[in-house]
Amino acid sequence: MKDNLSNETKHKIEEAELRARHIVNEHCNLNEMIDQRVFIIGVGKISEKLGFPTYMVNFGDDFGVEKSRLTDRFTNDVKGFAMKNTKSAASGSIYVDSRDDIEVRRFTAAHELGHLILKHLDDSEMSIAFRDNASAPDQADEKELTANAFAAELLMPKRLMKEALRNKKITKAITIEDMDFIPRLAESFGVTVEAMRRQISRLRELGEI
Ligand SMILES: [Zn+2]
Repeated sequence: MKDNLSNETKHKIEEAELRARHIVNEHCNLNEMIDQRVFIIGVGKISEKLGFPTYMVNFGDDFGVEKSRLTDRFTNDVKGFAMKNTKSAASGSIYVDSRDDIEVRRFTAAHELGHLILKHLDDSEMSIAFRDNASAPDQADEKELTANAFAAELLMPKRLMKEALRNKKITKAITIEDMDFIPRLAESFGVTVEAMRRQISRLRELGEI
């Protein structure tokens, strides 16, 4: 995490991680996952249960019922977005571009779920994940940072990460670049290599690994 974040922002990031951790504990049987060495968190199932179904849509194609809400921005620049249901605060929808790789789609979906769970949206508001910056680590906007922290912890929960890293030799001296097991680890969690690198850095920063 960037050092220049305010304490308040750092605190909000920790809260977002905690929120994700609670949700994972509530919806996933982590003991069973660990026993079976299965580390893929079913983000679609979780958001559905929470009242925020996720739709995979080809953003380059006809967008069906939602098309009227879309503008030119949606052609190539957007990888996902979320909307609250104006009639019910506890529900909403998440849309993810089906053209992206599965690992990208999963993170986009989890990020948008973060915006909804963390109550970032006003009634008429949409949150939009742009392809070029939505999950960039240096994203300075607090809502984006906390949605990313939520997504990372949801898809790579601390407990599963520690388990998966149990017999990896992570010494203080080893750099992220030298951790040659990261691509395989990323694959087993269904996330991008970049997302896995960031989560390992975060857990290191927290002194967890
Ligand atoms: Zn966002």
